[in-house]
Amino acid sequence: MSDTNQAWFERALEVIAGGVDSPVRSFRSVGGTPYTVRSGKGAYVTDVEGTSYIDYVQSYGASLLGHAHPDVVHTLRGALELGTTFGAPTPGEVLLCEAMVARVAGLERVRLVSSGTEAVMSAVRLARGYTKRDKIVKFDGCYHGHSDALLVAGGSGVAQLGLPGSAGVTAGAVLDTIVAPYNEVPSLDDTVAAVLVEPVAANMNLVAPLEGYLAALRAECDRVGALLIFDEVITGFRLATGGAEEYYAVTPDLWCFGKVIGGGLPVGAFGGSKKILSSLAPEGPVYQAGTLSGNPLATAAGLCVLELVRPRDLDSLSASVASFAGQLRDAICSSGLFALTPCVGPLMGLYLAREECSVPRNFEEAKVLCENGLYRTFFHSMLERGVALAPGAYEIVFTSLAHSEDDLATTVACALESASFALEAASR
Ligand SMILES: *Cc1c(COP(=O)(O)O)cnc(C)c1O
Repeated sequence: MSDTNQAWFERALEVIAGGVDSPVRSFRSVGGTPYTVRSGKGAYVTDVEGTSYIDYVQSYGASLLGHAHPDVVHTLRGALELGTTFGAPTPGEVLLCEAMVARVAGLERVRLVSSGTEAVMSAVRLARGYTKRDKIVKFDGCYHGHSDALLVAGGSGVAQLGLPGSAGVTAGAVLDTIVAPYNEVPSLDDTVAAVLVEPVAANMNLVAPLEGYLAALRAECDRVGALLIFDEVITGFRLATGGAEEYYAVTPDLWCFGKVIGGGLPVGAFGGSKKILSSLAPEGPVYQAGTLSGNPLATAAGLCVLELVRPRDLDSLSASVASFAGQLRDAICSSGLFALTPCVGPLMGLYLAREECSVPRNFEEAKVLCENGLYRTFFHSMLERGVALAPGAYEIVFTSLAHSEDDLATTVACALESASFALEAASR
């Protein structure tokens, strides 16, 4: 009796702030009690009650191969025997960084950290130290982790809670952060150290860059000598083996990575040219450090994933996601609701609407659709049918390499039924 989602969440509420270690997991924006995961295998997660779901959360993109991939598990077992952290250099970190540098053109030097947040925070510090300028431009609705200066207009996490930003962030901390609308090219001046962008915005549901947008940002940065930072925490090694840079053929000055490169363990990384990275301590004046940085377990799991995923795996994932997206949209639309399922490679968005509308190009447009109240009923109806979408309308749909055609077909069938429920709830 005590092994229920309800019981675990109640226990969690006693000892964990809000019952969760990351706000979206609380189901706050969709209502209800979160399922507590006991285990995961491939495309599936199983909760403490023994119910399995086809999982489209996939740790928000950290699991590209699906959960508990046998090769990753095997690799981790081996790594575990050798010791878990030393505070000294290890071969594993060299191997992971070599694998990253080999896949991303122009990436010459990397520094490993333990989360995407740290990666972006450190890249921004490096950009400021290198250019000796203060201002950072970010885009409304893009999420770059929860560091103070970057939490403004931060997309999904804060938007889901209806917060404009966060309490506890001083006006001073965001003084040098300029926020511009996504898909518009801000005009810069020589006080700008860097422009920070998600090359595909995937934290305000999915908003693709318009044709030529990233190249225009590149050109504007070059005009004033600002650095262009791609936050590839979601797109890296997923959109293509070379990430968004390869996909769009636009080269940033600095890259931030996370999620996929940890193979399900905590890792982040940032990198760029030899020249820029030599500003980092111990070679240069920009300080950055971490007790668990380059952790042997995390680097082993990450390397295993990078080595397993070939370009053609991502091509076939993109193809099956494109077809899945079409079927999902058709199924939902046949109920009388309207849906948009924009895709960029294997990334897929999901917007529900009462009537036909066009694909959002920025946060303002995405917000209208994410706040229309339709997602909540749809989400719960899918969950009851064994499909776990993210518990928030601002998240994207993460299809892993472990999702089978059958899983996708089952999901489409569930969506057909769930859309009718959502429509019914909306018209009540
Ligand atoms: C998830 C995410 C981050 C933050 O990564 P954490 O590991 O959660 O700190 C940063 N940028 C983007 C684009 C992300 O999606």
